[in-house]
Amino acid sequence: MGKALIIGCGGVASVAIHKCVQNSDVFEEICIASRTKSKCDDLKAKLDGGKTKITTAQVDANNVDELIALIEEVKPDIVMNLALPYQDLTIMDACLATKTNYMDTANYEPEDTAKFEYKWQWDYRERFEKAGITALLGSGFDPGVTGVFSAHALKHHFDEIEYIDILDCNAGDHGYPFATNFNPEINIREVSANGRYWENGEWVETKPMEIKRVYNFPEVGEKDMYLLYHEELESLAVNIPGIKRIRFFMTFGESYLTHLKALENVGMTSIEPIEFEGKQIIPLQFLKAVLPDPASLGPRTKGKTNIGCIFKGKKDGKDKTYYVYNVCDHEECYREVGSQAVSYTTGVPAMIGAMMLMTGKWNKPGVYNIEEFDPDPFMDALNKWGLPWQEDLCPDLVDSEPIKAKE
Ligand code: NDP
Repeated sequence: MGKALIIGCGGVASVAIHKCVQNSDVFEEICIASRTKSKCDDLKAKLDGGKTKITTAQVDANNVDELIALIEEVKPDIVMNLALPYQDLTIMDACLATKTNYMDTANYEPEDTAKFEYKWQWDYRERFEKAGITALLGSGFDPGVTGVFSAHALKHHFDEIEYIDILDCNAGDHGYPFATNFNPEINIREVSANGRYWENGEWVETKPMEIKRVYNFPEVGEKDMYLLYHEELESLAVNIPGIKRIRFFMTFGESYLTHLKALENVGMTSIEPIEFEGKQIIPLQFLKAVLPDPASLGPRTKGKTNIGCIFKGKKDGKDKTYYVYNVCDHEECYREVGSQAVSYTTGVPAMIGAMMLMTGKWNKPGVYNIEEFDPDPFMDALNKWGLPWQEDLCPDLVDSEPIKAKE
């Protein structure tokens, strides 16, 4: 059916690429391009031999001219941005210049400030509309599937959604006292930022990890979880009409939090450059270099993830609750694609989002968050491509547990 140019060859990209190759009717050709070409070549060597034709290229995705030259050479139907959030705008610029569809899994962040906001990417709306191309923003799990779950709930279960709680539980154990499951720099920036949630038309700010709840996750059990800001809150607050409150909770174990606190206390999570032996270094980037590579966690991680959304709202004038979630097993993911579940739960929806554009199911010129499209074909594809969802019409609610603020 078509050709995709995939930028980035890390944890998430590797899963997405495995899935594209499994889906060769849609992905007849892929080009894997990244900063370090040898990683692309290694993956190609592993996956070659199937129906999908694979090529590789070196690219610096911070450089718009290089990207344009590559897109003109490859002539893809879509650019799948699976590099880092810092590269979103340069890749969008190159897509505009070459009139090529775009998708990503995380919103743009300037490298020097931990700011998660869609405003930079939403600013491209008119230009994408005029160019007749589509940008699909946030096609991972969260953001991504959580937005599709919200659109599905609105379409099939509610007249009005009033409350959404997004619950992201990773009960995987990799055996290290401290490691992050995806890019450590991005992960630590996210969890050390202030928390924030949307209530009654405004943002309520909290200190990092200030709000804690305990939740009994299906197939996983009871876990501590903490309120964080997460980027899909911003788009869902705009795209779910009449919404009163949206919150995002993520589970963290004691060991992770204790290490993070100590690292913060000694300044290792800072993104302010410091002088070291005559060189400017950023402590968080140095920390990334000494932590285990998330890709190396795959063979050692055991346990499950459970990510989903609990909705409360009205149907036919009556109160209704609805929980939809996916459970994913780290070891099964590793057996299938050689990665743990955190990369898997992001890489599969990245492939599906690209497929929605390549098959013409979701094409509309402009820049859109995932919940703005028809959720049905995406929900079907989740079941088919390895992330089956389950639902509960009478779930435990987050606030049936007492509030326990962290000391
Ligand atoms: P990794 O660090 O494992 O991979 C990033 C890849 O991008 C690497 O191959 C890296 O190259 C490449 N890259 C970085 N900078 C450039 C550049 N300037 N030019 C070209 N290539 C570059 O990250 P992950 O795979 O864990 O994450 C990928 C994306 O997915 C991130 O944006 C992350 O925020 C997002 N994500 C989204 C989730 C969701 O649910 N929505 C969940 C988890 C992650 P090199 O090999 O040289 O370092």
